[in-house]
Amino acid sequence: MTPPHTYITTTIPYVNARPHLGFALELVQADVLARHRRARGDRVRLQAGTDDNALKNVLAARAAGVGVQEFVDANADAFVALAGPLSLSVDDVIRTSRDPRHRPGVERLWQACAAAGDLYRRHYEGLYCAGCEQFYTPDELPGGRCPEHRTEPQLVSEENWFFRLSRYAGQLHDLIAGGTLRIEPAERRNEVLALIAGGLADFSVSRSTGRAHGWGIPVPGDPGQVIYVWFDALVNYVSALGYGTGGGDLQSWWTGAGRRIHLAGKGVVRFHAVYWPAMLLSAGLPPPTDILVHDYLTAGGQKISKSGGVTVDPAALAAQYGTDAVRWWLLREVPRVGDTDFTVARLGGRANDELANGLGNLVSRVTAMVRRYRDGQVPATGAPAAGAQPLAEAIRLGPGRVDAALAGFDFRAATAAVWSIVDEANRCVSQARPWVAAKLERAGDPEAGRQLDAILGTLIQACRAVAEQLEPFLPDAAARVAQQCAAPDGQLPAAAPVFSRLEVPGPSPSRPPANGGARRPG
Ligand SMILES: [Zn+2]
Repeated sequence: MTPPHTYITTTIPYVNARPHLGFALELVQADVLARHRRARGDRVRLQAGTDDNALKNVLAARAAGVGVQEFVDANADAFVALAGPLSLSVDDVIRTSRDPRHRPGVERLWQACAAAGDLYRRHYEGLYCAGCEQFYTPDELPGGRCPEHRTEPQLVSEENWFFRLSRYAGQLHDLIAGGTLRIEPAERRNEVLALIAGGLADFSVSRSTGRAHGWGIPVPGDPGQVIYVWFDALVNYVSALGYGTGGGDLQSWWTGAGRRIHLAGKGVVRFHAVYWPAMLLSAGLPPPTDILVHDYLTAGGQKISKSGGVTVDPAALAAQYGTDAVRWWLLREVPRVGDTDFTVARLGGRANDELANGLGNLVSRVTAMVRRYRDGQVPATGAPAAGAQPLAEAIRLGPGRVDAALAGFDFRAATAAVWSIVDEANRCVSQARPWVAAKLERAGDPEAGRQLDAILGTLIQACRAVAEQLEPFLPDAAARVAQQCAAPDGQLPAAAPVFSRLEVPGPSPSRPPANGGARRPG
């Protein structure tokens, strides 16, 4: 039997500036889901890309005084290069301005919608935010300003192509309400259902070539118009699979029986959960199966944004504090719903409390005891040691808890499930007190020696279980923990720290010790 196929996509960001931490959140979330499904035996494709054809790229290039392609290439490279510092397992990247797969896909989808009778021309006048690349109705603009950018939109009046979105309201409602198209969290699903219930107006899917400064994909058969950048950009999810160029990927990843999962920020839910599924239905393609929506990050209380506001460079953060610390903060602190404020002090606090003190100390204590009391030979594991039942239970339940949390797009609950093993293991060390058994053994008590074997074996097993469950979240750290606890010939390797404490500016938020105040041996 072929394993289940899981196709996971990130949104493709505008490359009007260098990437910021908010986008790193989405990349890391997508990477965790991809690694987790791979670990569970699925065939997975993690797809990323860049949205090169936006008007705001043109405007940013002009402001910078460089050619559009040159400007787009430089910023797109910075996005693609995040895979290294964030340890991402991206399988494929599509760049909409220069990937030969993209334009034929957009043209094919356009023609399929046209053949379905869903594209028509009409004169249109509306308020357009170039930052969002979308038209707004006056009641969507508090104080006359864009809710995302707080800028006044431009009045645009021209003849455009329109997509007959109104025709799909009923089908979209049924897909989403019935769970065929799952939107998580529920708060976001309810927003989309409310949007549909409020009535869906047809939307403009082209603009004049003049207003687009000649940048973008021309409308097939109408060279005076270019295809609206959102119509163009959304198609990346299937153009990357050869929708316009052929090959077997479309069948493997989109029209087959597997899952098609989009991650997206809350600001672009309408495009992913309404426009895109309607375009697919029009073209005779299945809609996505899951849309997982994250909220935003702020930095020191201010909005993070590529264009205006504060920027936090995720590559620079990873270079300074390490990939693990950055990923851990994003996964551990950001809730399913609600914006989250980033500070370096919080990143450092999390890493020091949990990674250095909680997990790092656990691994170094356990391996140090095996070296000290057993010359580095890992005792064979049988039944859990006396008093280690809660730890054995945490190990047994860990994978199912991680699965359940990630199915609900809840990274905090998933990391907490892994951490329940770390906490139980630290508690087990302080309660079982192996150093007491070691003393008794040295005094000639063979029963104490057997107890010591059992407890050390169970603790090494716990560390290995943590490494295995931690891999999707912190692949680098998990590899170091696994290496420290691996004993292919029964012998542990030389000691090496798995985490070092971070020096971070500012006060670290106080938190109780992650290990419940467990004491160190000896
Ligand atoms: Zn805007």
